[in-house]
Amino acid sequence: MPEGKPIRYKKEYKEALRRFNERKGLNIPESDIGNLTIWKQISTVATLEESNHLTAEYLDTVKAVQKEFDRNFKLKALHILNERTGRNIPDEWVDEIQQAYNFPGATSHNDIITTHNQFVDIKNELRNRAKMEKAGKLIPDGYQVCGRCGGSGRYSFNLRDQDRCYGCGGKGVVPTKKKSGKGWHGDKPGHKSASIKAKTNNVLRQAQIRSGE
Ligand SMILES: [Zn+2]
Repeated sequence: MPEGKPIRYKKEYKEALRRFNERKGLNIPESDIGNLTIWKQISTVATLEESNHLTAEYLDTVKAVQKEFDRNFKLKALHILNERTGRNIPDEWVDEIQQAYNFPGATSHNDIITTHNQFVDIKNELRNRAKMEKAGKLIPDGYQVCGRCGGSGRYSFNLRDQDRCYGCGGKGVVPTKKKSGKGWHGDKPGHKSASIKAKTNNVLRQAQIRSGE
């Protein structure tokens, strides 16, 4: 570990530690998150066995918190899906949609598959956007995070383009998927025309000029 560089733990880990401390009446600091075995040195934990037990219990708490975070993304995605498709799928179905089971208002097997795919797309977009915003990256109006590279602009390596993502041309964003008629049709990554790529570059440049970079 490099000296003097404080580790920043994920929100889920910190939230899990907060809940765990509260439940167990402990006061384990955030700096111990990455070094669970150190817990045996904490005066309230008497034995190694007890420490292992607590470690396992803490990791269970992390899992529970992550599940909650994931569920929030899923619920948001469901609400956007309903809005875009004019459906009215209730919150209780959020886990079933992901498994493409029959949900209220589904008209056919294909309908379920399509809805499921839209749902997953929206969920990934929300997650990627959150990640990008956290990293302080710009997402211009009318654009969304590239689903292929997740906003990094890098994907598999080849000699010509090296690791530049061909979904977004290395920009990390692509034009937002458009509503059309009653369905919702997204552009497939990797099928961007040169003019769309040029447009992306242009919008990015404009946005940078506006923000004074
Ligand atoms: Zn990309």
